[in-house]
Amino acid sequence: MVVCKTMVFKIKLIIMKTACVLGGGGFIGNHMVTKLKELGYWVRAVDVKLPEYSISMADEFAIKDLRSGFVVSDVLVSPNQKKTNNKENSFDLVFQFAADMGGMGYLAGGGHDADVMYNSAIINLNVAKIASKFGVKKLFFSSSACVYPMELQETSDNLGLKEKDAIPAHPDLCYGWEKLHSEWVYDAFMRNYGLSIRIGRFHNIFGTHGTYENFKAKAPAALCFKVANAKDGDAIEVWGDGLQTRSFLYIDECIEGILRLMDSNYTQPVNIGSDEMVSINTLAQMIIDISGKDVTIKNIQSDKIGVTGRNSDNTLINEVLGWKPSLPLSYGLIETYNFINKKVNG
Ligand code: NAD
Repeated sequence: MVVCKTMVFKIKLIIMKTACVLGGGGFIGNHMVTKLKELGYWVRAVDVKLPEYSISMADEFAIKDLRSGFVVSDVLVSPNQKKTNNKENSFDLVFQFAADMGGMGYLAGGGHDADVMYNSAIINLNVAKIASKFGVKKLFFSSSACVYPMELQETSDNLGLKEKDAIPAHPDLCYGWEKLHSEWVYDAFMRNYGLSIRIGRFHNIFGTHGTYENFKAKAPAALCFKVANAKDGDAIEVWGDGLQTRSFLYIDECIEGILRLMDSNYTQPVNIGSDEMVSINTLAQMIIDISGKDVTIKNIQSDKIGVTGRNSDNTLINEVLGWKPSLPLSYGLIETYNFINKKVNG
């Protein structure tokens, strides 16, 4: 009877589609794990930490450091491949989300530049080489809007950054230089070793279950946290004059965009972002309005505000996928504020 059960399990695993989510304990990675389980995949997640605000739905969660080539070699062999020693049974999908990153509080100012560049670059070099060697069927790399040149982001009325704008390169942060470098690394492994890649350039992804209370939090979550903690009559601090502009994409549409891109044949970088651009003060005011609190904004001087204006041009994603993000910002903000408010106030 036991033998039978084991055999059934093995046969099931061979038939099931398999996926590996690197950085599966992080915000986007954990959402991707949940989605892949809904879609019926067998999923391995890998991260140095477990998800912060929910349990992982992964079939297997490896707490491991991907800066080690030995670790990457270990985790990128799918269970089917290990059993059969056959490249045809390699992972169907690998998602590379692992990176040393955070909001502007972490990435700007230069204090973490060396760590950000070394930690993320070495993970990507390992992953590109070993995924090629093991014949991973399709690999997604999470790049960023931070690859775009700072000269194109000097005014708050940014009409939208097109994918081709990335070259000639002049990102404002080391984080952006590393992402651009890794895009080229994956592209080289595609051209020379046949690695099947997809690259999304994320523009400020936000939503439930993201970091909100530490220095790695990004603007929407950090502002929701401040408002959730504020009382009527309080003022919340917003960095800079608050006139700097950004667009923000809700996590559900980010996951949908990634999966649609994986289903396509397009191998060059594509923006995955919203084109609903708002100023940071507008973002803060929207969150205050959602809370229903009598709270005001106090702009404070800061060197951690980044470029003046950034927006996603969605022409290419629409052309390539016949789809582009369309949820209004307010939808995601309500979900995110309610999630964080519940954590803070019960
Ligand atoms: P996140 O910080 O929540 O997730 C990244 C995960 O990588 C973390 O859980 C972290 O522990 C893990 N990690 C870091 N170093 C590791 C290592 N050495 N070994 C194993 N795991 C390691 O960030 P996120 O918001 O989920 O972003 C996912 C990816 O998308 C990142 O590559 C990020 O650069 C990119 N991106 C995100 C945004 C955004 O707005 N969230 C925007 C642009 C690009």
